[in-house]
Formats: sequence, C-alpha cells, structure tokens
Amino acid sequence: MSTTREHLPAVIPHWIGGALVDASDGRTFDVADPVSNTAYAQAARGSAADVDRAVTAARVAFPEWAGLSNRARAGVLYRIADAVEARHDRLAAFESYDSGLPITQARGQARRAAENFRYFADVIVALGEEAFRQGDDQFSYVVRTPVGVAGLITPWNTPFMLESWKLAPALASGCTLILKPAEWTPLSASLWPEIFEEAGVPAGVVNIVHGIGEEAGQALVDHPDVPLISFTGSSDTGRHIIRSSAEHLKTVSMELGGKSPVVVFADADLEAALDSVVFGVFSLNGERCTAGSRVLVERPLYEEFTRRLAERAADVRVGLPSDPATEVGALVHPEHYERVLNYVEIGRKEGRLVAGGSRPDHLADGNYLQPTVFADVERDARIFQEEIFGPVVAVAPFDDETEAVELANATQFGLAAYIWTSDIKRGHRIAHAVESGMVWINSHNVRDLRTPFGGVKASGVGREGGAHSIDFYTESKIVHVALAEVHTPRFGATS
Ligand code: NAD
Repeated sequence: MSTTREHLPAVIPHWIGGALVDASDGRTFDVADPVSNTAYAQAARGSAADVDRAVTAARVAFPEWAGLSNRARAGVLYRIADAVEARHDRLAAFESYDSGLPITQARGQARRAAENFRYFADVIVALGEEAFRQGDDQFSYVVRTPVGVAGLITPWNTPFMLESWKLAPALASGCTLILKPAEWTPLSASLWPEIFEEAGVPAGVVNIVHGIGEEAGQALVDHPDVPLISFTGSSDTGRHIIRSSAEHLKTVSMELGGKSPVVVFADADLEAALDSVVFGVFSLNGERCTAGSRVLVERPLYEEFTRRLAERAADVRVGLPSDPATEVGALVHPEHYERVLNYVEIGRKEGRLVAGGSRPDHLADGNYLQPTVFADVERDARIFQEEIFGPVVAVAPFDDETEAVELANATQFGLAAYIWTSDIKRGHRIAHAVESGMVWINSHNVRDLRTPFGGVKASGVGREGGAHSIDFYTESKIVHVALAEVHTPRFGATS
C-alpha cells in the first residue's frame, strides 16, 4: 500500500482522556513530507495547559490501571499487538510518507512495534517476586509498584517503533502516561488512538500531546505530577531535560546520540564486514542512533576496504520512499537535510571523498543524498567527532589493537560498537575495552528484546530493554517481616 494525500488526515489532534481534542488555545503547526516538503496536515500545538489536562486524565486513570493484575494488563498488550499488526500496511505507509523511510524498512519497523507489545506482555506475566530469608528469624520480599504517570518523549527517526518501545513497558508496568511524539513525524502516532481503543485500553491510560519540544515537551518535563521521563533524542536535549528534571528529582532514562565505531581487523571476513558496514550506516537513511558511522580499518586492509566500500555505496538505490526497490529514501526534514549537507561540505575539507557527496541526478526535489563515504579522516575532524545522522560515513586506518581502541573511544559518545575479526579472543578483548553500552562481534545490529539497550558517556543515562525497562517504570519496595520473636539490641551498647 502506498499513501497519497487523500488517504491522510488533514488534522492531527491530541488524544486526551479518550477524546480527540484540539489544542486548548486552538494553535496548530504544519506537518510536511520530505519529498514535496509542503504541508499535508495541521497538528495540534500542545501547550502547558494541554499537558496539564493530559496529566489530570492520566492521574484519574492510574488507580484502576495500576490495580489490574499483571495477567490482565498483559491481555490488553496482546490485543494492542494484534491491532498494530492489523494496520501493518497503513502504518508502514504512513511512516514512510512522513519520515522518508523506505517502505520495506518501514514495514520491518511496524512488525517490530507489534513484537514490543507481545514481548513486554510476556515479561510481565512471567515476572516473579524477589524474596530473601535471613536465617530463621526474618523474611523479606520486594513489592513493585508502577511509578505513576510517565512522560514519554520520542524522536523522529523510526517514530512509531520507538514510541512502542516506551509505551509497551510503561503500560505493562501499570503506569499511565503522556506521549509527546516528535513534531516532524506525528503521522503514524495518529493511529495510536484507534489501536488502543480497539484493544480496550481504558480512557486516560494513554494520552498523546503533540507539539514543539520547547513547549509541549518542556511542559511535560516541568510538570510536578509526572515523576518519570523516558527520553530518546539528541544529547543536547537530553542534557537540558536532566537539568530541568532536577527541580522535581525525577527518574529519567536518556537514550541519546551516537558516533559508533566499526573496527575491522585485517583478518576479518571482508564480505561480511562490508555488508554490515553498508547496512549499519545507510539503512534507515543513516538516521539510526546505533549507525556505525566511523569505520576503523587495520592498515593492510585499509585501501582495499575503502575502495570496496565506495563501490558498494555507489550501488545503493536512492529513491522515492514508497518504491519497494528503494534502499535509501528522503531525509526527514529540509532543516535536517541542510545540516547533513553542511557536514558533507565540511567533510570535503577534512577527508577524501570516495563516494556520493551530492543529490542523485535522477531526484530533482526532496531531501535526497547519495550514500557518502569519506576516507582518511583524522580523529579531530568534525565528521569523525560529531553525529551526522544521515547516510555519511568516515573511514580511518589504524596500525594495532591499542590504536584501534584509542580511536574507537576518541569521541564523547558511547552507544554501540562493532568488531570484525576472525580472532575471537581479540574480539572479546576489544569488546571489553571499548567505551560503549552495546557491542556486536562479527554481527550487525541484531538485537534480542531481552537485552539491555543504552549507552555510556554522551550517549545516555540508564538502560531500557527487557527487565531493565520494568525496573525503570516501577518502584521497588522492600518489606521485612519477623518470623520469630526478634529482640532489638539496646543502642549505644558497646560490644
Ligand atoms: P531532539 O532531541 O531534537 O528531539 C527529541 C524529542 O525531544 C522530540 O519529541 C522533541 O520535540 C523533544 N524536545 C526537544 N526539546 C525539548 C525540551 N526542551 N523539553 C522536552 N522535550 C524536548 O532529537 P531528534 O532530532 O528528534 O532525534 C534525533 C536524535 O535522537 C539523534 O541524536 C539520535 O541519535 C537520537 N536517538 C537516540 C536513540 C537511542 O536509543 N540512543 C534512538 C533514536 C534516536
């Protein structure tokens, strides 16, 4: 299914307390697609008053939702997964239209969103209680309670999937919530209300407030009755949100930017490493937090690897997001496109351009860029240090393991790292030495939903994923109970 304008909503309202509503002051903002760069819809522009209405609705809905058994909540999550799957084609078409993601990749993201709900339903059903016995005298057990009203703030890359990544564990844990989707890509989120209604989610459990980050997002962060913020976005916004959250000592999780290294040793399986590098930095239009955007290659393999990478980059099909043959679509927004093009200009001075670097000849309009490869990039170069978040990769040589680790760790980021070598002992050594939250050895971005996800340094604070997500959305309370008569010692006594 591909989407044309007549299939799209002309208005994207908030969803508060189970009702689709305009902003309380009636304001809206333009939403455009990245191919025509013209507005196709008006979205409600949330203010502090809208956020406050949503928080009130979420507070009212909280006791009943939190009071359900884990099994009952899981039942609702399974139905949400079904409702997502039932709209798979429309969801993928909306996502592709709004964000410029190639349609085949948008389909994969829609499937993943359904999996997230099914997975967290399984987790909550299987969740046991922790208990401790101290000798014969005392027994202690942990009670988990949902944190309360959660604030979820999400970015424009793979928006629906990333929203599901927060919605599923928050709901499984018994939180009610307010979601603030990214302002450049609110379209797929316009399908959540019908999905949740079909699944039987009670009114007010989920509330969606659209709007600009500094307005609606900031109001959510500042609201005193929202004790927890789960944020995915840029490191600069993350820093700002942590500062604002300090006022109310909120629980925060920060999934932030990256500049992840791919370390390729001369003994690596060359074809497999090339496949992985091309996938890692060019799939999802390069707008992927875990993109392997710095490729470090051991000197004996360096020239051949660079040449082969350039050939493969030139072979990637850039085209209309709705075309099933497209591998790289349109970058999300003209502002972002300009930013990426600016990095390409900087790269021309800082490195050797071996592939791409401009708009493909056959695409006159829209935010398109050929997959771009810069070789011989020094560690102080901006294109080595800064997150570009587009189909642009920097390649540099290294001479030995020590230098490989130094270069891998030479940025402020630490989200993911990829290692290619046939020496598995070395693979583990490097995996332990790199400063990053996630490492793949001889593998690309495959992820098991049970594993922790997150980064170190400027790439994040805390972990979500698997049981880590449930820990995040719940508070643990320890209850100690005496099993026998316990004699409290006299304080102050020396013994
Ligand atoms: P962004 O930080 O500009 O915006 C993210 C969200 O925060 C949006 O919804 C925005 O409206 C909101 N926001 C902006 N200012 C705010 C404020 N003052 N208070 C509250 N909310 C505010 O990021 P982006 O450009 O939308 O997303 C791209 C970034 O996200 C990249 O850096 C990418 O690496 C990162 N990202 C990280 C992960 C991860 O898991 N680590 C995943 C995806 C994306």
